[in-house]
Amino acid sequence: MTRSIAVDGPSGAGKSTVGHSFAERIDATFVDTGLMYRALTLAALDGGVDLEDAVALGRLAAESSISVERPGVGQSDRFETVRLAGRDVTHEVRTPRVDRAVSAVSRHAGVRDAMLGIQRTAAQREDVVMVGRDIGTVVLPDATLKVYLTADAVVRARRRAAEMGRPDRVDDYLAEIRLRDDADSQRAVAPLRIPEGALVLDTGKLDVEGCVDAIAARLEELDA
Ligand code: C5P
Repeated sequence: MTRSIAVDGPSGAGKSTVGHSFAERIDATFVDTGLMYRALTLAALDGGVDLEDAVALGRLAAESSISVERPGVGQSDRFETVRLAGRDVTHEVRTPRVDRAVSAVSRHAGVRDAMLGIQRTAAQREDVVMVGRDIGTVVLPDATLKVYLTADAVVRARRRAAEMGRPDRVDDYLAEIRLRDDADSQRAVAPLRIPEGALVLDTGKLDVEGCVDAIAARLEELDA
């Protein structure tokens, strides 16, 4: 039986950092589902697809070849490499134009259906730590362990500004985070929710090591 750890939470809560670190600790594969939605958003923007057109976006999702894989040797600037039709788009999917459009793309049912298959298949093959918005609620409802990471929006905006080397732009990041929080938690399909039974951790209060230790302790309790 493979083990799956579902990690959900809002933008900038530290899901990738904590999730990746925990995956290393238990020797599991790390899968960041946000990268998949970002790659699809890039394809839609580059292809001039109307972000309101659910049918066209669903078709694009079904036809696009999106894959995430472990980074190559020496690629220490990333936790994963994301490819769109074979092209490495890892940096391109983190640009502001994708940040602004991704929630509009990911809210369509047809888009989510196409992603669901890829994500579930990944969790069947091997032990995974999968991070996103709907992993514990929709993608892996039977996950071995569900975790929900959160932090105050201001804490998340400060963190993002520091990561981007733009401490002067905290207010811009805060506005963007609030917009994305609202869009992701108020959408009709697979909204961001705390999964039932999830271990909830505040990354404004616990550092990465503290979160990883808390997740490991809960997993040990379940294994016992
Ligand atoms: O986690 P990240 O910020 O990279 O995710 C980008 C966007 O992708 C989110 O704001 C959300 O709209 C969408 N997403 C989603 N479901 C997931 C992961 C991400 O809808 N499982």
